Amino acid sequence: MSDRCDSCGDDGPDLATVQRIYVIVDEQHQPAGHRLSDEFETWCAICRVTYPHQDVSAEP
Ligand SMILES: [Zn+2]
Repeated sequence: MSDRCDSCGDDGPDLATVQRIYVIVDEQHQPAGHRLSDEFETWCAICRVTYPHQDVSAEP
């Protein structure tokens, strides 16, 4: 687990391990589903509020 947010680079006190959720859009740029990232990332509290993600409860 990193000591900085992998999304914005902040070194906030409330970092957590997450998997980013990518939103898939179709040819008309309409949301068509979502896909879970293959990689674990460390995110600050602000990024966890701002961007779609799934919390990783078990530490690797
Ligand atoms: Zn962040």
